[in-house]
Amino acid sequence: MSFEMEPNRVYYICRICSYVFQEDPYKMPIRCPQCDSEEVERT
Ligand SMILES: [Zn+2]
Repeated sequence: MSFEMEPNRVYYICRICSYVFQEDPYKMPIRCPQCDSEEVERT
């Protein structure tokens, strides 16, 4: 049981289509998997 072993994932929401998804915050750019927009923000 180690939280350091957990993948660093956060939730994002797309401002275009409102799709909510999980992504690694260190991966740039973050793109919506549904509409391929970069207009996403952290929830
Ligand atoms: Zn989208």
